[in-house]
Amino acid sequence: MFLTAFDDSSFQAAHDRDCARVYRLILAGGAHSRGEIGRHLRLRSTTTSSVVADLVDRGLLLETVGQAARRGRPAATLLANVRRLGASVIHVASRSLSGALVDLWGNIVAERSITIDPDADTDAIADVMVAIAGQLLEAMPPGMSHAGTAVSLSGLIDLPRGQWLLASRWPRMRGLDVAAVIAPIAGPVEICRNLDAELRARAVREPESFAGSTLLLHWGWGIGMSYAVEGRPFAPAGSFGEIGHWRVSSLGGQRCGCGNTGCLETGAALWSLLPALRAHWPDLAEDEARLARQLAGRDLVNLPEIDAAARLLAHALANACRIFFPTRIAVSGPFTANPGLWARFEALLRAEGMMDGVAMPEIFSVRASERHEIQGAAAPLLARATEALLRQRG
Ligand SMILES: [Zn+2]
Repeated sequence: MFLTAFDDSSFQAAHDRDCARVYRLILAGGAHSRGEIGRHLRLRSTTTSSVVADLVDRGLLLETVGQAARRGRPAATLLANVRRLGASVIHVASRSLSGALVDLWGNIVAERSITIDPDADTDAIADVMVAIAGQLLEAMPPGMSHAGTAVSLSGLIDLPRGQWLLASRWPRMRGLDVAAVIAPIAGPVEICRNLDAELRARAVREPESFAGSTLLLHWGWGIGMSYAVEGRPFAPAGSFGEIGHWRVSSLGGQRCGCGNTGCLETGAALWSLLPALRAHWPDLAEDEARLARQLAGRDLVNLPEIDAAARLLAHALANACRIFFPTRIAVSGPFTANPGLWARFEALLRAEGMMDGVAMPEIFSVRASERHEIQGAAAPLLARATEALLRQRG
């Protein structure tokens, strides 16, 4: 149900509103027959019948006729056709761009992935996006309509213009016009920050845990941040949350991929720490999920580079809390998988404190989830396409 959190009140006509209510009820598993719908929503049987007929016509509901219990008409079971609509999501996975085709329940119907050379320029990355968008369209099962392509990105993004400005994985890429590249093949295009998508999906799945305001910090290859109130990510007119590129005077002249020196990432991101870590453990992977498993059991806290990174990051995060005053802080990324380092980081953050009279936010670590990112990115496209189908006149 979570993928199609559309708003009933946006439907002007009574029939459309009834269609939306009935569809939502069945999608949530709240009713399986006309009789149950009528009882739940207090609809007259003629209204229920005409609404159900319309939803079946539009392919949103499936009706299966089973065997009659004893005699009389066989019982018809109504099910939501979760493969009526699908959305493509293109996202960054380590050194690759990956694509997933998801249905209305957020199930992944097809996946594609293409590895990109670290030296790839803007055009090369655009070509990969086009290839994945095309492959996902080809993977559409019969009867599924395409709701569009969501592109979930890390690094600096201009959301209103639909441009990917820069990414630490591919330093030669600048200003990729994602919307213009994808729209002709598999539009409409929706671009989002990957941390916003992840936070949105988490909040829909666990509304109680994400009530109030949440600051999500990702401590990984790069360092980024998302902020949401009641699960709605703060979506400003331009870019947002580039805490990894805050200038830190103690980091002096170390060069950063963003073109500046002394950014927080130059002392605390995985890309800058990996050489020191590999001096101790040459087997360490670059992929964050694999690295999380590798780092879990190693003695990270006693490495001076890691200790310095944790201090810098705790300091920056404490300052961010003085801008947003979040109810809670969630931290994701491979470093948080190490219990010793996590305990140290949490202690450093508590030692930074808040201001007199302001409670310390709740702090916890979360495992970065690709599935959450994919579902959160697809949700707005699927909600819009479902609304359009519900409005469509039979
Ligand atoms: Zn920077």
